[in-house]
Amino acid sequence: MSRATIALVDRHGRVHHRLYAKTLWGRPVAATLEPYLRAIEIMLAYASAEGFHVCGLGVSVPGSLDSSLRRPLLVPTLPALNGFPLCDLLEARYCLPTQLHVDVDAAVVGEYRFGAGKGFRRLLFLSVNAVVGAAFLVDGKLEPSAQQYVGHVCHITVSANGSRCSCGKRGCINTLVSIDAMQKMVQRALRRGEETSLSQRLSNREYFSPRLLAEEALQGDSVALQVYSELGRWLAAATARYISIFDPNIFILAGSVLDPSDLLLTQLRTALIAHSSTQVGTTIEVVPALLASDAALIGMAVPFLASDVRRSARPTVPLADVVHAEQDDQPRQAGDVLDDVYPVQADVVNQQTHRRKSYQRRIG
Ligand SMILES: [Zn+2]
Repeated sequence: MSRATIALVDRHGRVHHRLYAKTLWGRPVAATLEPYLRAIEIMLAYASAEGFHVCGLGVSVPGSLDSSLRRPLLVPTLPALNGFPLCDLLEARYCLPTQLHVDVDAAVVGEYRFGAGKGFRRLLFLSVNAVVGAAFLVDGKLEPSAQQYVGHVCHITVSANGSRCSCGKRGCINTLVSIDAMQKMVQRALRRGEETSLSQRLSNREYFSPRLLAEEALQGDSVALQVYSELGRWLAAATARYISIFDPNIFILAGSVLDPSDLLLTQLRTALIAHSSTQVGTTIEVVPALLASDAALIGMAVPFLASDVRRSARPTVPLADVVHAEQDDQPRQAGDVLDDVYPVQADVVNQQTHRRKSYQRRIG
């Protein structure tokens, strides 16, 4: 099940409270947004009850934004949101400044302020999940040239002979180190008739996942080890290219491919040392992300902390932001928290209506 996370983040980058809202596929925009809005309202009520002053809403989307940065431009998983004035809607509804971000951009900002990138000037961030996402940050600011689809860091050609990418080119890192790429490497080994305990696990209806692959690699399965070694080589080739283009001080790796163990990171570091003729591997640090799947949630709160917008009239009350991240694919047990607290919604809506009216009076 895919879902969004709604979190209350404080000024120190701590997540105080989180809720989950179901992602409804293929619905019109109102139906798509309804579970998210309901969760935001529940979170605002919680924040108010706990004495937090909420100073803004941050929303991240897995896709791209329009040039005003106030509307999603292309969200492949939720096309109903493409071109929708999301910031305008949320600002009018909740009377709170709202910022929209691409998920990987929010994550690198989170890592820069509170995670592995603290104190580094030039950060390159790569997240490897179902697809690869990348972002580049200089002095805390996103590098705008890296934002667009083609020409984006993930679509720099790493192997001229690689398979064709969704962008139309061959050999982008997206086609070489994603979960999809890992799965294809395993399938090729199975077709070659190589012996592997993976075949038994997959024929037992287990789903392919990085965790399954890592478990087998740690048991010494030769095919699983081979996949990690190949991934490490591609990642090192890509990293070498990125280093020559972006000259980062730190390279942060995140994503579900890395979660189960440090296998890929170890492979990458080994392969980078092999590139030592170009001095790669000795000049920058290659580290795993510290904030894991919370990086984007925390990163969305950062712009509000920097500008300290709408400072509370009561300075003793802790400052907090409600942030809302799209498309959390990780299975969690607490997915039905929303249903437990749903009865408070009627009151919240009344409060929101009242606030909306007073806001309209103020701006009118
Ligand atoms: Zn591409």
